[in-house]
Amino acid sequence: MITYFHVIKALEYLLDQAGELQWRDWLRADIELWQSENDASHHLNAYGGMGSLNDLWISTWNGRVLSESQKSWINETLSLFRHLAFQTAQCLKKKNGGVFSRIAVNKVLRTARGNLHLDGWRCLNCGYLETQVDGVERFLAKEVLPGEISRAKTESDLISIVEMGFSSQLSEIQKMREQVNAQVVESGITVTERNVWMRPCPHCGSNNTEVCHWLRIRRRFALVVKPLGIRFPG
Ligand SMILES: [Zn+2]
Repeated sequence: MITYFHVIKALEYLLDQAGELQWRDWLRADIELWQSENDASHHLNAYGGMGSLNDLWISTWNGRVLSESQKSWINETLSLFRHLAFQTAQCLKKKNGGVFSRIAVNKVLRTARGNLHLDGWRCLNCGYLETQVDGVERFLAKEVLPGEISRAKTESDLISIVEMGFSSQLSEIQKMREQVNAQVVESGITVTERNVWMRPCPHCGSNNTEVCHWLRIRRRFALVVKPLGIRFPG
């Protein structure tokens, strides 16, 4: 089971590679404070308010601009690591923090699995459905990352997970990507490279479009309909 210390070490590595030097130095201070005084309070100050660590979005790596799919992976990884670091740091303030930390890690991973959905757009006029290449990639990252993190035991295991985003041609992941893409198409959803709002609808021209989400149920993507409920396309 990973600990607060493993997560902040991996987070420091991620921020360093991303060239986010201000936040990397913040994490270095967290690491020193933990090593000298077993104190996680400085890390908790990184969250909340405008311009906090929660607002960080990574777009470069080793000085290079990331591709859209790499951005999806690395920002999903950042998001999970942030949750893990925050939750475990909070637990460490409490008595018997070690036990609570384990519960906190499981809770973060369970929530991440529970939030596994595909994002996209739909036209309320003609029913046209669309998702983007990076939306599919985000779905894939959300599907893969919690399992990998739950198997991690050390900070180097977590760092390997960060690196997975850059070997996304790994045969296993490539196979999963092809499966997800095929399921998306079979569910009647078009995959595009769009990086702006889908308005108007490219099919009928109507401006009556909205953001939507799908859950994957038995290899099909079903639309989540408000207030509650799902609907299979077609
Ligand atoms: Zn339409």
